[in-house]
Amino acid sequence: MNYISTRGGSAPVSSAVAIKQGLAPDGGLYLPESIPALSAELLSSLTSMDYPHRATEILSLFLTDYTKEELLADCTAAYSERFLPEAAPLKVLSSELSVLELWHGPTCAFKDMALQLTPRLLSRALVKTGEKRTALILVATSGDTGKAALDGFCDIPQTAIQVYYPEKGVSAAQKRQMITQEGSNVDVVAISGHFDDAQSGVKQIFGSSETAKALDAQNTFLSSANSINWGRLVPQIAYYVSAYCDLVNAGGVKMGNKVNFTVPTGNFGNILAGFIAKKMGLPIGKLICASNANNVLTDFFATGVYDRNRPFHVTLSPSMDILISSNLERLLCMMAGPEKTKAWMESLASSGRYELDGETFAMIAEHFAGDYASEEACLDRIASVWSRFGYLIDPHTAVAMTAAERYLADPADSAPMIVVSTASPYKFTPAVAKALGLPDVDSEPARFEQVGAFTGTVAPAPLTEVYSKPVRFEGCIEPAAMTETVLSFAAKLNK
Ligand SMILES: *Cc1c(COP(=O)(O)O)cnc(C)c1O
Repeated sequence: MNYISTRGGSAPVSSAVAIKQGLAPDGGLYLPESIPALSAELLSSLTSMDYPHRATEILSLFLTDYTKEELLADCTAAYSERFLPEAAPLKVLSSELSVLELWHGPTCAFKDMALQLTPRLLSRALVKTGEKRTALILVATSGDTGKAALDGFCDIPQTAIQVYYPEKGVSAAQKRQMITQEGSNVDVVAISGHFDDAQSGVKQIFGSSETAKALDAQNTFLSSANSINWGRLVPQIAYYVSAYCDLVNAGGVKMGNKVNFTVPTGNFGNILAGFIAKKMGLPIGKLICASNANNVLTDFFATGVYDRNRPFHVTLSPSMDILISSNLERLLCMMAGPEKTKAWMESLASSGRYELDGETFAMIAEHFAGDYASEEACLDRIASVWSRFGYLIDPHTAVAMTAAERYLADPADSAPMIVVSTASPYKFTPAVAKALGLPDVDSEPARFEQVGAFTGTVAPAPLTEVYSKPVRFEGCIEPAAMTETVLSFAAKLNK
């Protein structure tokens, strides 16, 4: 199976090359040349497997230059012990409503589903492509991605990772998680400034041929682990298939009948994986794209116009505070081909806006619906889901739950709904405590206890353990010193 660029201007490559490169040379994103079919027999056989085996079967259809043994070894390492009690359990709340919990990994959010596996796929891709240098992953983070990437790359052969975060731009809990990270190939650096300073610093380093040369002399090269890399998208297809199998096993749907999914969406990676699962043949009716107040996608699915020229809102669901959803480019290409996609992306870059033609819009509207939740609706939903089901959800999941229950109220579509849950409620305790009407407390460990006592639930160990781990990374640098900091980390790796 070869991979082609969404902008049509790069030669087809193997999956190992696509994963190693991240972005295609023409600036597009890699997509498989064709979507492999999920046969009814294979789907049936998956119902009796555990998550690592299900994921292996799905991945092997896309990553044809990896052997099944390699994929099974990687999926087992990624999804067994690191996810407690299991990787992607389905919680059935009622005959029409279930929740797919993607936050049982080491950082308690859904990015672990990809980032526990991608580094292993990348490490193998280096061997498969004859690469002798170390891949140095640079990440600028506003909080969640940094920790998930650190944990995923920790001690993975031939890779190293350096994460930059804004000193005052992440929560105390997020900072604590990062600065206590273990591993011999990791580095965490605070910069004085905002997230944008960290991000533009990283971009500048990626664009500098001088830095590339200096790193090459240290036997390293820069690579990225953000969600436009195919290696981060492909692991996410598996959990849609797995959720369907679990719902069949629970008697919630008859094998072959359709289900709908609602996905809390930011960069459009998660929901796109669901669409690819549908294209493979998984019985999915509608994919409901749920946004917060940054509802550029809600408008897009209602009108066919994408327009990022609007105010940016900081919300209770920060991982969805995004106005440019990069992975939407892949959907456009799957629907309309690279030529039109390239023109839309150029329009987005120059004017912040593009408009689909009627034919493409009609095709997209057949598969997707969009909706959004205000801050108030999000808090209300946390409270109402708790009171009706005794089930605690985080603000991102609450945004999706709002859209899902609104969709379920429409009698025209009675397929069971699966809500994709992307974070542990304990990852966002300030919002959760507020929604439940609990009094304000000022430290995270205290809030864990408060929410736990009220709900009879327990904070996941990875979130509480960091308070007893030693701090490994201290101090803070100016953004101007980032290049020098990258080079000295690379030099240290070589010793
Ligand atoms: C990243 C993230 C999202 C958004 O996922 P996309 O793939 O970017 O659409 C939603 N919820 C949480 C908790 C996240 O960390």
